[in-house]
Amino acid sequence: MQSFEIALFGVLGLALGSFLNVCIDRLPGGRSIVKPPSECDSCHRRLSAGDLIPLLSYLWLRGRCRYCQAAIPRRVFVVELVTGAALALLCWRYGLTAEFGVIGLWAVVFIVVFFIDLEQGLILNVLVYPAIGVALLLAWLVEPPWLEGWVLAPVVSSAVGGAVGLAMFWLIVVFSRGGMGWGDVKLAALIGLICGFPLVLLALILGAVLGGLAALGLLLVRRRRWASGQTIPFGPSLAVATMATILWGSAVGDWYLDLL
Ligand SMILES: [Zn+2]
Repeated sequence: MQSFEIALFGVLGLALGSFLNVCIDRLPGGRSIVKPPSECDSCHRRLSAGDLIPLLSYLWLRGRCRYCQAAIPRRVFVVELVTGAALALLCWRYGLTAEFGVIGLWAVVFIVVFFIDLEQGLILNVLVYPAIGVALLLAWLVEPPWLEGWVLAPVVSSAVGGAVGLAMFWLIVVFSRGGMGWGDVKLAALIGLICGFPLVLLALILGAVLGGLAALGLLLVRRRRWASGQTIPFGPSLAVATMATILWGSAVGDWYLDLL
């Protein structure tokens, strides 16, 4: 029975990934994510059901529009695959629990945040503001397990985490003058609300380390100097770090407390 559920959520995840691609394409320009129906970005022909089968259509059409041959971004395939795999794996690990629901929701949100910041260098208020409300509500109503066991009540842990995230990144923006934007500050506050205190520290430090490594890797690969004033998109690394923290942060915390 459980393998049926895993397969079901894998397929639902693929379809959801297809919708997330629409969000990634349209939200930065402030366009509607429901109207018009999916169309080619180049020739604006409406796509038929056969063009919209997750993964398979991309492979079958070899990454090109059926009508005008314009290249379809590789990201379309990647997002479908990652969303499907994420929901299947989370269902496998957590079963049909509230924890699965909460972690699955944040996985979906951070996939969108990851790709919009990677492609556009933007962290959108239209995503972050509602997510802040949802994070507080979940801390209060669902009390995710990584918020428990830190002396503070889950909702207090969440609120303190949000304040710490906001303060840390606000200070960085003020003192670094460029290199990080206000979108990152709002995102850090959201991450604090999700992870709570003290795990917010783990998430933000891990995110900064991953971001630094990614920037260094890009510099080495492209053999270019970092232009002054050029901002590093921290959203993608913060998104990955946050997911790692809510999946494994409590285990890291226990290990650390054992050391003391
Ligand atoms: Zn086309």
